[in-house]
Amino acid sequence: MTSILDPLNRNSAPSDQTVAAGGMPPALPGISSTTEQSRENETPGSARIPKIALEEHFMLTDMLGYFKDTKVNIKAELYDKAIPILTDFGDRRLSTMDQNGIDFSVLSLSGPGVQVEKDAKVAVRMAKFCNDALALEVSKRPNRYGGFAHLAMQDPEGAADELERCVRELGFKGALINGQTLGVYLDDRRYDVFWERVVDLTVPIYLHPGNPIDHPAMYADHPEMWGPTYSWAVETCAHAMRLIFSGLFDRFPTAKIILGHMGETLPIQLWRLDSRLPISNQNCKLLLNPSDYLKNNVLITTSGVCSDSALRCAIDSMGVNNVMFSVDYPFEDTRTAASWIDAAPLTLEERQKICYLTASTLMNIKLNTL
Ligand code: MN
Repeated sequence: MTSILDPLNRNSAPSDQTVAAGGMPPALPGISSTTEQSRENETPGSARIPKIALEEHFMLTDMLGYFKDTKVNIKAELYDKAIPILTDFGDRRLSTMDQNGIDFSVLSLSGPGVQVEKDAKVAVRMAKFCNDALALEVSKRPNRYGGFAHLAMQDPEGAADELERCVRELGFKGALINGQTLGVYLDDRRYDVFWERVVDLTVPIYLHPGNPIDHPAMYADHPEMWGPTYSWAVETCAHAMRLIFSGLFDRFPTAKIILGHMGETLPIQLWRLDSRLPISNQNCKLLLNPSDYLKNNVLITTSGVCSDSALRCAIDSMGVNNVMFSVDYPFEDTRTAASWIDAAPLTLEERQKICYLTASTLMNIKLNTL
């Protein structure tokens, strides 16, 4: 593995800029497991598959106060090393993309950002500042970078207005939201004004992990479970479930959300969700089965899960058109992610859809390399 910031990693490559949030397994099955089937579907000698990456983070010096909340989730020395990597929009980031065949990155502020700001007015102002700063960086390299809006969800109508400004005026591709905001989840009916605008603008909302506002007893005495190891998947999966069971996608059937980390465990759960909801002792009325919303309204990325079996499950359960490549830079290793998807046992058509075609269509991203 090649995470220069992982103290456990003795084989670090100096050219790679990655913050590892934890030790990685010594070998990944995807790198060497290209099957005969996928070889048959590849054109011999064909050029590499272009890649678009969607969960790629940055930080601004003025936003560091909010980023400190993340310190509890990763080792202190890794947090310190992350900052110069996150704040670079130039050669360091571009060379990592170039070395690993990533043509285009949609950039997002590393969480939780203004979503933890108690003063809504300050949150709105800082979110605008952040979006303007990102737009400036994107404008310098519009063929390589896109932007996801950072939004002050404390103010639902203001967030809708800022999303519209970011999409229409700054050319952003959607927004990335770091979970709940001061205890309020996105299924709250006060957010209908926001979802109306999302649908009007036809942009996706990337639902990125964040910590819950409380610290549930199930994590007591187990700090290793808090954060990227486990609790973020639980929190983000539950958030997505809240959106589905609230009927949000019946009210806004064209709304699209994106989940990272191979769908935050949801791809294995479709059958059980459909099977158990009808016998649930509750009055949840949906027009469709839960699995239908997961196929119609939810796309997932491969960020941080370089596993052939997890990828196959995601494709088989949600459909290949719902799975997109991502890295989670710099918290995951770009080389690991890119080399894994290049060699994963996929048909050429599957690999093209996952690596760039679906993202390109969903967010109207034009690649120079095509
Ligand atoms: Mn991330």
